[in-house]
Amino acid sequence: MSKKKEEKQKNKKLWIYLIGLVIVLILLMGFTFIYMKDKNQEDENTLAYTDLIKEISYGNIEKIEMTVGSTTIKVKQKNEEKEKTSVIPNTESFIELVQEKVAQGNEIELIQKPRSMLAQIPSIIISFLPTIIMLALFIMIFKMQGLGEKGKVYDDMQRKTKVKFEDVAGLDEEKGELIEIVEFLKRPEKFARMGAKIPKGVLLYGKPGTGKTLIAKAIAGEADVPFISMSGSEFIEMFAGLGASRVRKLFEKARKLSPCIVFIDEIDAIGSRRSSNSGAETENNQTLNQLLVEMDGFSSEETIIVLAATNRPEMLDKALLRPGRFDRQVTIPTPDLKGRLEILKIHSAQKRIADNVNLESIAEDTAGFTGAELANILNEAAIIATKNKNEDIENEDIEEAVKKVTVGLEKRTRVYSDKDKKLTAYHEAGHAVVSRYLPTQNDVKEVSIIPRGVAGGYTMYKSDEDKYYISKTEMQEKLIALLGGRAAEKLVLDDISTGASNDIEVATKIARDMVTKYGMSDTLGPIDFQGKEPYEIQMFGENIGDKIGQEVKILIDTAYRDAQELLRQHRDKLDRIAQELLQKEKINEQDFKEFFKDNI
Ligand code: ADP
Ligand code: MG
Ligand code: ZN
Repeated sequence: MSKKKEEKQKNKKLWIYLIGLVIVLILLMGFTFIYMKDKNQEDENTLAYTDLIKEISYGNIEKIEMTVGSTTIKVKQKNEEKEKTSVIPNTESFIELVQEKVAQGNEIELIQKPRSMLAQIPSIIISFLPTIIMLALFIMIFKMQGLGEKGKVYDDMQRKTKVKFEDVAGLDEEKGELIEIVEFLKRPEKFARMGAKIPKGVLLYGKPGTGKTLIAKAIAGEADVPFISMSGSEFIEMFAGLGASRVRKLFEKARKLSPCIVFIDEIDAIGSRRSSNSGAETENNQTLNQLLVEMDGFSSEETIIVLAATNRPEMLDKALLRPGRFDRQVTIPTPDLKGRLEILKIHSAQKRIADNVNLESIAEDTAGFTGAELANILNEAAIIATKNKNEDIENEDIEEAVKKVTVGLEKRTRVYSDKDKKLTAYHEAGHAVVSRYLPTQNDVKEVSIIPRGVAGGYTMYKSDEDKYYISKTEMQEKLIALLGGRAAEKLVLDDISTGASNDIEVATKIARDMVTKYGMSDTLGPIDFQGKEPYEIQMFGENIGDKIGQEVKILIDTAYRDAQELLRQHRDKLDRIAQELLQKEKINEQDFKEFFKDNI
């Protein structure tokens, strides 16, 4: 987080720098322009060189004034009041010419003045301009490369971390797998004596925020060795070869600090498949190749373990996974119920949590949340509690924080018309009523028409329990629930709005996955059409795309029809809930259930 900020700060500085440069350039250009224009204005007062020569030979010139180093001269004609300026091609030969005339008896007063600094400034600037620009560009490039502040970067990197395994909640099996690495870093000779080969590289797979960086730091912390880290995206540079040289420097440093941990975050940025030959790819290849060379290069005396993290394992080049490189892979999953509870406990330890707060129930309500999201929720809750001037963090603060993190901030002040309000009320009531009649869908927790984040209103469901599989029926019903909002708009207002765009997006993705990923379409069968390899899709003829489209359309059309049908059947409920929403803006779980007391 703070690292990203730093990066932003750095980028901001560079932008200011760049803008400053542009402004200076514009000013200089304006300056030059005015100067040039000034010169042009003197047009009537200038004397062409050929005319000047003629005038000299006719003896019409009285006085010539020259400035050293300048080809612009001032001349005074005998029959003219004003002095004129003239530009001569070559000062020396001109002086010779004048002196010759003087020797022949012409009366010409020749004055040579020293160079005036002021008059020279524009031309000095102009002559130095290219150098200035080049210099500025160079400085900028160096700053961008971070070469200018090399020392700082490395100081940052070699800090030892204080993170320990006990700071990492859950992930017991994963920690069990990684404890070996800690042992090795602590006592490499013990393993060497036994003839054991310890992995050089460990790849951590997992969604963002699942704790990959945290666990990597904990390994370094447990082993009490330096933690050197860099992000894959930092290696991708504007200029060829720099990525590779950064890798080289990184490992140079690691050799000096050995035993140590080298952590490469977002390794997919450098280690993605070498498929095409575009410029960026070639650069990546150099960086990747250098990484492979380094990893193959260090010997058994050098106790360096390279940890790398990615959330896109399928993108990685196979060469990275070969023996002697990242031959060990550990998946870091999103936490299960127990893991979530432990994460909540760790992150609430230093916070003032009210006694009646039930962390278990929060853990239950947050299936699918990552460690980072859970930490974020508790932090938001603390902020909300402070704003509410509470003594401690209360249950409501945490619930509000969950909503803020999932749907966005409540925007009570946003004004919207009665017409929009009615539309939102029916849209949300549509979702809620439809889901109520779908057995696989979770219970409604809250329906609201108070805008939150970008949404005009929202329907929240009770959280899923941790599930490993989702059935086809469940997915079909999910589609119906998603389209319930649009169906209500159509049914009641006989018009539809843009408010359903997100529902439609999600529904379409689910339907497409059902057909192309989970093999749930009867006509197309259990085939993976989202194949990782680009050529896989070409196994089939061109019209397979049409078939996929047709199947997706059937799924969506059916769900939309079912949603409308359900709402037609339960129109009374739809109307009553929409009315209630218009009056109270929000309906909670209990009140929602009340509407359905009479039947079932
Ligand atoms: P990743 O590297 O996988 O994107 P991070 O390690 O950066 O995730 O996690 C971000 C933050 O989330 C951590 O600093 C920590 O506060 C919290 N976090 C994530 N997973 C856990 C966990 N298992 N236990 C405790 N905190 C966690
Ligand atoms: Mg990370
Ligand atoms: Zn909706």
